[in-house]
Amino acid sequence: MSDKNGENERVENVIIVGGGPAGYTAALYAARAELEPLVIEGFQWGGQLQNTTDVENYPGYPEGVMGPEMMNDFRKQAERFGTRFVTDDVTELKLSDGGIHEVTVGKETHRARAVILAMGAEPKRLGIPGEMELQGAGVSTCGVCDGAFFKGKDVAVIGGGDSAMEDSIFVSKFADKLSIIHRRDEFRASKIMEERARAKDNIEVLTPYVPKEFVGEEGKIASIRLEHAETGEEKILPVGGAFVAIGHTPRSELVVGQVDTDEEGYVKVDEPSTKTRLAGVFAVGDLVDHTYRQAVTAAGSGTKGALDAEWYLRDTPGPDPEAHWSKQTGAVIEAVEAS
Ligand code: NAP
Repeated sequence: MSDKNGENERVENVIIVGGGPAGYTAALYAARAELEPLVIEGFQWGGQLQNTTDVENYPGYPEGVMGPEMMNDFRKQAERFGTRFVTDDVTELKLSDGGIHEVTVGKETHRARAVILAMGAEPKRLGIPGEMELQGAGVSTCGVCDGAFFKGKDVAVIGGGDSAMEDSIFVSKFADKLSIIHRRDEFRASKIMEERARAKDNIEVLTPYVPKEFVGEEGKIASIRLEHAETGEEKILPVGGAFVAIGHTPRSELVVGQVDTDEEGYVKVDEPSTKTRLAGVFAVGDLVDHTYRQAVTAAGSGTKGALDAEWYLRDTPGPDPEAHWSKQTGAVIEAVEAS
C-alpha cells in the first residue's frame, strides 16, 4: 500500500497505537463500528501482560488465565471484526489538530483521520542483578496483580511512594511478614498511606537501604542483598518474593510537545472523555492513568477512546468522502454525491 516514496496513500479512519488491553479493546469497538481500524501494536505486542503469569483479577476468566494468552484472546477478538495489525514499533507521530495524522513505522507512513494513543506505561526497574532473571520467579512489579500468590511467605516491597504503600498494604494480607525497603528515612508517600502501612502488625520498615542484588536459588528468589545507604553495611534479607514499586514511566515520548502531558509525562485528556487537546487524537489506558493501571480499567478506557473516535468521525466530515468511513455515514456520502 506504499507509493514509491514509501508514503501510504490510503487515509485510515482510525489508527490505534499500542497493543495492550487498552489498544486491543479500542480496536474491538472500532472494528465493530465498521471503522476498519489499523493497530500499530509494537514489535513486542501484548504490553505489560506479556510479562505476567497468572491473571486472576480479569472478570470472565473464573479459573484465571496466563497474561500472554489473555492478550492473544484480546487480539483475536479484535481481528475477528476486521482489525488489521502492524507488528512493529512506531518511530514517529505527526499529529494534527482536526486534520490528517501521520503515523510512521520505519520507512512506511500511515495516515488517518483519528488516532487513539494507547502506548501504555512501563514499570521502572532498579537495574540490579537478578531483577530481570527472576521476574515471574518471585520478583514482580505489581503487588495488586500478584500478591495473592505469596500466601504465607516473607516478602519485600521496594519503594517509598504511594504505590509501594498500596502494594504493601495489599500484599500484607497474604504474606507472613513484609519488609518495606526504602533508600531514604523519609517517605514520598502520603502520610495517610504511610501510616496505614506502618500500622500493620506484619509490616516492618527497613531504611535507609538500597537493594543491590536479587539472589535466586533453584530458579526462584531466595534473598535480597541490601546495602545501608549511610554506613555501607551489607544485609542479606531472606525472602520468598519481592515487589519493585518505584513508579512507572508513561510511554509518551513520541507525543510530548504535541499533546498536553503532565510533569511525569502522562497524557492529559479532557476527562471523563479521552480527548486530547488535538481534535481527532484520543488517549487511553496507562498512558493517561497513574492511579488504577489495571488491565480491566485500561480495557474500559480503550472502549471510551473508540467511542470518542467513532463520534468524532461521525460528526466531522472527512476531506475525501471515499476515505470517509462509509458504512454508517450514508447521510454524509449521499449529501456529497447529491451536490
Ligand atoms: P513515586 O511517587 O514516584 O515514588 C517512587 C518511589 O520509589 C520513591 O519513594 C523513590 O524514592 C523510589 N525510587 C525511585 N527510583 C528508585 C531506585 N532506583 N531505587 C530505589 N528507590 C527508588 O511513584 P508511585 O509510588 O508509583 O506514585 C506515582 C503517583 O501515583 C503518585 O502521584 C502517587 O501519589 C500516585 N498513586 C496514588 C495511589 C493512591 O492514592 N492510592 C496509589 C498509587 C500511586 P525517593 O523518594 O528517594 O525518590
